[in-house]
Amino acid sequence: MLSKEYIELEEKYGAHNYHPLDVVINKAEGVWVYDVDGKKYLDCLAAYSAVNQGHCHPRIVKALKDQAEKVTLTSRAFRNDQLPFLYKELCELTGYQMVLPMNSGAEAVETALKATRKWGYKVKGIKKNEAEIITCSNNFAGRTISIISFTTVDQYKDGFGPFTPGFKIIPYGDSGALEKAITKNTAAFLVEPIQGEGGVIVPPDGYLKKAFDICKKNNVLFIADEIQSGLGRSGKLFAFEYENIRPDVIIIGKALSGGCYPVSAVLSSSEVLGVFNPGDHGSTFGGNPLAAAIARESIKVLIEENLIENSYKMGEYFRERLRGIKSKHVKDIRGKGLFIGVELKPEANGARRFCEALMEKGILCKETHENVIRFAPPLVITKDEIDWAILKIEQTLKMD
Ligand SMILES: *Cc1c(COP(=O)(O)O)cnc(C)c1O
Repeated sequence: MLSKEYIELEEKYGAHNYHPLDVVINKAEGVWVYDVDGKKYLDCLAAYSAVNQGHCHPRIVKALKDQAEKVTLTSRAFRNDQLPFLYKELCELTGYQMVLPMNSGAEAVETALKATRKWGYKVKGIKKNEAEIITCSNNFAGRTISIISFTTVDQYKDGFGPFTPGFKIIPYGDSGALEKAITKNTAAFLVEPIQGEGGVIVPPDGYLKKAFDICKKNNVLFIADEIQSGLGRSGKLFAFEYENIRPDVIIIGKALSGGCYPVSAVLSSSEVLGVFNPGDHGSTFGGNPLAAAIARESIKVLIEENLIENSYKMGEYFRERLRGIKSKHVKDIRGKGLFIGVELKPEANGARRFCEALMEKGILCKETHENVIRFAPPLVITKDEIDWAILKIEQTLKMD
């Protein structure tokens, strides 16, 4: 079948809630993906950082297959033999005391919102239904109705009201605004240590530390949404490590399964996650043995194959090479580790056409926020592969 025919089928029968590049992928390995015509591409999106370990990582695929032949789903009505180890390994890796597993990132964000609201009532003593959570402009935390209630992107809200109350939005990167926004009813502050969908925005140095200290001073929980920035993407296990803080709550997803299955989790102290009692919250698939086995192996791969270190080194190298490209379109090159944004000038007429041109040359990227090209390849990428990509990127950025 021709790629055009797949696209026609998809457009005819599927809801049009995405605008994908017209590449139909049917195979992938490491940093490479292949389309139905056999053309090979370097994947510089890595499924929004879900495929940090590389596509179809053999160890993760093996864990998936082995577990799939044993037991896939018990529901949490019963126990399984994988989840306890996922809990233990995640806590040992991160130093947090407790884990609550979910499936998608959005569900984990919802879980963190529920946990911190409940902590607000049960522990902090906020009056019933008055808890507030402070969030930042330009955030991305998923697509549920409560989460879009605090988006600042109009399109994400358009037609979906009424919205969930209890959120305040302050400018990202402004710790003074946080201090002013906090009241006696503030339960938590939710922030992405680096904004991904917002255009790979790295906040000013010292911001996270200041915000964290303000939260501590006011008995407000600091929630780091590390769903995209975490698990090695930024060149550290978590992006907040650059500022030596220890958030009260962290949210992970995406690369927690190496892209092999939806797995997400909230990690925190027993004081916070201890607010949940049996029946308060749940998910049929959350914490299932297949998910747990895959997540366990995905974490091991990340650590044992030194992917975090590789992300740091290759990220530095990638940015240095990008900075060497002379292009009239480029306004800014930024990021940490292999979490890289190239912002184009408004006159460049949008990043989409550059992404389409890169696709022609065998590199898959996705524009974010109109003017930013995000380069976020799997963390297994090598220097030679970056050198190869730089030639194509240079040709593309030199277009008119
Ligand atoms: C992708 C993402 C989410 C939502 O994850 P889904 O799995 O798409 O629901 C939440 N927060 C951040 C920072 C993300 O990048």
